[in-house]
Amino acid sequence: MSDAATGTVLHLAGIEKAYNKGKPNEVQVLRGAGLRVARGEVVALVAPSGAGKSTLLHIAGLLDTPDAGRVEIAGEAMQGRSDRRRTAVRRAEVGFVYQFHHLLPEFSALENIMLPQLANGVTKTQAEARARDLLESVGIAPRAAHRPAALSGGEQQRVAFCRAMANAPRLLLADEPTGNLDPDTSDRVFDALMALVRDTGLSALIATHNLELAARMDRRVEMDAGVLRPA
Ligand code: ADP
Repeated sequence: MSDAATGTVLHLAGIEKAYNKGKPNEVQVLRGAGLRVARGEVVALVAPSGAGKSTLLHIAGLLDTPDAGRVEIAGEAMQGRSDRRRTAVRRAEVGFVYQFHHLLPEFSALENIMLPQLANGVTKTQAEARARDLLESVGIAPRAAHRPAALSGGEQQRVAFCRAMANAPRLLLADEPTGNLDPDTSDRVFDALMALVRDTGLSALIATHNLELAARMDRRVEMDAGVLRPA
């Protein structure tokens, strides 16, 4: 059956990736990694630093291409697609969150969440309404007009979650999303992220080396020697 019919939102198969290919400093990071993430499923990607988590997330999110293997998003095979199509699928279906918020410093929290929607053709009024709803749902509506520098680390990350969700993607990819926060803040911010994910029913692949956070997800996969295994 097709991925669309089975409700698979992300399907990776036989993913291989090396950096500096053919050079003396070649490093083979992925050696046939495979994974399926179902609709509404939250999967923890657990591995030590340097194992290849970011590499895998970038490939899954169409920011990089594998040397071999298949990437399917919501049933659409992405290999051989034009850059234009890959960008369109990424914009519509994928939300990214990083360890550092990467918010635009000269824009308010609200505007940071509106911008990806405006880039996607949504009207200003609609974009603002959705941005306010999202800020409300992570408990920081009163911070809407603040620029990132005037927000705490936890608040900045909440805004980054809202921005990732702005275009209602089907897939959230997160790379150590609370890795830069103190343990208490990390816990609360992670709760906010999970609530947002559950509310919207989206699928998520979240890289972490925090085993307590990993235990709160539906399923864990471990990256070892370039492949993924159930953990
Ligand atoms: P993780 O996210 O698990 O820390 P990464 O995917 O960032 O791991 O990196 C995996 C390996 O690939 C590391 O050894 C890293 O040094 C190497 N690597 C990552 N990006 C590049 C790059 N652009 N060029 C060369 N090597 C890289």
